[in-house]
Amino acid sequence: MSWGADTTGLRGGWERTGEQEHSEAIFPTSSFSFASAAEAAARFSGDEPGNIYSRFTNPTVRAFENRLAAMEGGERAIGMASGMAAILATCLSLLRMGDHVICSLGVFGTTASLFANQLSRFGITTDFVSPTDPAAWAAAVRPETRMLFLETPSNPLTEVADIQALADLAHENDAWLVVDNCFCTPALQRPLDFGADLVTHSATKYLDGQGRCVGGAVVGDAKTLDEQIFPFLRTAGPSMSPFNAWVFLKGLETLGVRMRAHSEQAQALAHWLVDHPQVERVFYTGLPDHPQRDLAARQQKAFGGVVSFEVAGGREAAWRVVDATQMLSITANLGDVRTTITHPASTTHGRVPAEQRLAMGIHEGLVRISVGLEDLEDIQADLDRGLSGSA
Ligand SMILES: *Cc1c(COP(=O)(O)O)cnc(C)c1O
Repeated sequence: MSWGADTTGLRGGWERTGEQEHSEAIFPTSSFSFASAAEAAARFSGDEPGNIYSRFTNPTVRAFENRLAAMEGGERAIGMASGMAAILATCLSLLRMGDHVICSLGVFGTTASLFANQLSRFGITTDFVSPTDPAAWAAAVRPETRMLFLETPSNPLTEVADIQALADLAHENDAWLVVDNCFCTPALQRPLDFGADLVTHSATKYLDGQGRCVGGAVVGDAKTLDEQIFPFLRTAGPSMSPFNAWVFLKGLETLGVRMRAHSEQAQALAHWLVDHPQVERVFYTGLPDHPQRDLAARQQKAFGGVVSFEVAGGREAAWRVVDATQMLSITANLGDVRTTITHPASTTHGRVPAEQRLAMGIHEGLVRISVGLEDLEDIQADLDRGLSGSA
């Protein structure tokens, strides 16, 4: 049965237990019992499918995995304890000592740190290049390059990478293209459709949507997930909790409608910011003068919920905007139904050396808004307090 995106989010990948429940059951069990010694042996040897232990499989986690895989257009998904666990598991499953990675400069700060400070200790080296410059990716390829890693649009500057072009480059060089699709979610963008090999998620953000649980996932083809990523999960144990999987299942049900609403709100807020006399620059892929708007429109169904802007006056002015808010949540989190406001240079990118931060385009006057679903007028009024000095 082939369903549309919203139907898949609401009903995909779920098998009822036999109790006729109309919402997914939670299986808070660490292990599963066997009918006999022979059945236990058959499960462990893999001759018979079935659950053994929740470090590797759990029915609630499986329901989340199946639904997310269907939404991303992948054959399989594996739930993980967090978004970072999903990226780590992907890297440690696919890479080995001596391998080289090319990573976008515009990735989540912790992801950049994982490559630069953690994987480097195990002999995996990484070069960082601009997401918008495919020639720079091609120039960075070495014989030992095995993975290209990116997010699109980037956070917080909304730079757009050409997934198909970088997938082609990866495959010409016998490398994987991995896309962190946290920002757009499958409701707006499906990287596998453009040739990416694997998608990673921080389910903590839009998949949950209400800021409740930490979790993550990897999505891709059955062979890679079953033969490379699943054995890593089973052995290393960065597993998703069944409680969290249940919350994420509830989140997936409303993902389509939420992402459309987030995009509409963000589009309207971006235009309001462009017209605001105190705002110097606005970053949003949906603006007509965004340098990669056409590419974004080709890859995405809508432009997403994150808008960034720059005010004159550097950190002092940016902090004034943040501190003048009375409703918006001051948090580094994004993807929540409630609007959040962040000063990237002193929080999410605070540990990036100042020079590198400037090279990335993250200036002291930059403010990031993850636009929620409150009344737009209330979001605007809260921002205007600091912008117009009416605090
Ligand atoms: C938050 C985030 C992550 C990390 O996810 P956690 O669930 O916090 O581990 C990875 N990538 C992106 C784009 C994120 O926003």
